[in-house]
Amino acid sequence: MAEEKIQKGGISVQTEHIFPVIKRWLYSDKEIFLREIVSNACDAITKMKRLVSLSQAEAADDYKIRVAVDKKLGTLTVTDNGIGMSGEEVSKYICQIALSGALEFVEKYQGEGDGGIIGHFGLGFYSAFMVSDTVELFTKSYTDAEGVHWSCNESGEYTMEACELNERGTKVVMHVTEAEKSFLEKSTVEGLIKKYCAFMPVEIFVEDAEETPEEGKAPEAVNDTQPLWQKNPSECTEEDYKSFYHKLFPDMNDPLFYIHINADFPLNFKGILYFPKLSHEYANLEGQVKLYYNQVFVADNIKEVIPEYLMLLKGVLDCPELPLNVSRSYLQNSGYVAKLSAHIVKKVCDKLNGLFNNQREMLEGFWADVKPFVEYGCMRDRKFFDRTKNMMLLKCTDDKCRTVEEYLGELSSEEKKVYYTNDVIRQASYVELFRQQQIPVAVLDAVIDTQFVTFMENENKELKFVRIDGDVDSVLKGEGDAEDREKLTELFKSVVGEGTQVEMTRLKNEKTPAIITFNEEQRRFDDMMKFYTARNGGPDMPSQAGEKLCLNLSCPLMDKLEKMNETKPDNAKKLARQIYMLAVMAQRQLTADETGELISQTLELMESID
Ligand code: ADP
Repeated sequence: MAEEKIQKGGISVQTEHIFPVIKRWLYSDKEIFLREIVSNACDAITKMKRLVSLSQAEAADDYKIRVAVDKKLGTLTVTDNGIGMSGEEVSKYICQIALSGALEFVEKYQGEGDGGIIGHFGLGFYSAFMVSDTVELFTKSYTDAEGVHWSCNESGEYTMEACELNERGTKVVMHVTEAEKSFLEKSTVEGLIKKYCAFMPVEIFVEDAEETPEEGKAPEAVNDTQPLWQKNPSECTEEDYKSFYHKLFPDMNDPLFYIHINADFPLNFKGILYFPKLSHEYANLEGQVKLYYNQVFVADNIKEVIPEYLMLLKGVLDCPELPLNVSRSYLQNSGYVAKLSAHIVKKVCDKLNGLFNNQREMLEGFWADVKPFVEYGCMRDRKFFDRTKNMMLLKCTDDKCRTVEEYLGELSSEEKKVYYTNDVIRQASYVELFRQQQIPVAVLDAVIDTQFVTFMENENKELKFVRIDGDVDSVLKGEGDAEDREKLTELFKSVVGEGTQVEMTRLKNEKTPAIITFNEEQRRFDDMMKFYTARNGGPDMPSQAGEKLCLNLSCPLMDKLEKMNETKPDNAKKLARQIYMLAVMAQRQLTADETGELISQTLELMESID
């Protein structure tokens, strides 16, 4: 290209509409233009490095990208010392390929609206026109071709001429429009580089023409060119993972555990996923998985890649193979994404099993936090269940964690029953009865446990979960049969509600005069109904259906009561009622009326003591 010759051109007839479209479109995501221009600069440097490594170009060092704002000139400039372009290459890559790429992109995704496409990656060089009215390019190839100055206005008219340039590389000068002046603020630009380019593999420096660099202070790159996920897991320490997490996410707590994925076959992707510690049961369950494409940020929260039950995971995924220029609906149906998601699930399961086999104590330490997600995962995903069923733990009231198998192994009976409480405080007196017999009690007090218990029983037909106020006779019963004492039964029948059954038993424990038990199945059904009516704003009435009052004949109070019934039947009745009320109180919260009754009855009994 001779120096006196200035090439002029209109970009192409079919493109007359593309500039206004680029400008108006993607309004909310305008900022991605900076990622596009900076990643081109990064690519150019990567290409240069490759040529050097293949000895096709002379060694060069100090590769860097500079992003400079100049308010006076109204320009935002991105400079790289990469491979550069010759005049022919500008004609080919910028005037033809880049343009048709942008055109194709716009045509394909215009209908998707703002939220439709993920990341808008690939709009390319012409996205600079989202914020500029004129874009200039100064570029010099690594070959001995002449330097080139190319300039294009927002109607798509460009000029191209040779120009004297000494340094290899490309400078893109964006003349920012009045309306987009905020992109001339150094802090804004720095913020965007931190968002999109925080882990790009080439150092990026942000400069302001109005600022004089501080003497003796070397400029600092904004980005981290070697993010942790690119490293080999064996080179990373626990501390590295923690500090990387805190760098990415504002969370006061350390994550519970992490998974470093470094897959290259059959899927090529890397990433680190963290299981965060949630501060309470109703904490925001939406984690954040940031998606990268060769260390370039693409989008936040790609729900499609992570199964719903692991949504709380936080972290980064770098997927150079993911077809990024697609809509969410495409991703939801993409076979590739399904494979990616399956791989992530497998890794999560591997990690859980690894913790179970090698770091059991650590797993037990945070099992309560992880449990609801594992349970939910099991119910949602067959594969997840198959992979985690043997590591699943039951946290027990003695603070020990046991697998179902370990639990059953500790019971003397042959029955496959897991005794559980769903409210350690409310059911404390039952917990105590079990503790005395050294029978472990599993704590299943999360909302999801109700369904999970049924799920587990369906999976294992021999296994039964019995709440500690359920049909517990077999484990708490002591020696000897409980003879039927008719009068005692009648006495109690006269003080309990109509639906309540009265039965004799002999518990090992001699202190407790009576306990209330429920038929497990019926109680579960009632709980479900209660949950349902409570949700619909119905009254939360204690249900007495299936209630059974078990009188403990091992307790001396029963003999006393029987005698009293002969001599002072009124007193016997009062005492029986009191025993019943106490048993109710140990089982559930009393209603206001019941509490009132219990108080006045107790006072009356106290008055009679001399
Ligand atoms: P893509 O980067 O996806 O190929 P772009 O529209 O961003 O599409 O760029 C088109 C082409 O222009 C690039 O493939 C590259 O050949 C060339 N190019 C753009 N920016 C630069 C640069 N800073 N240095 C060298 N070549 C560049």
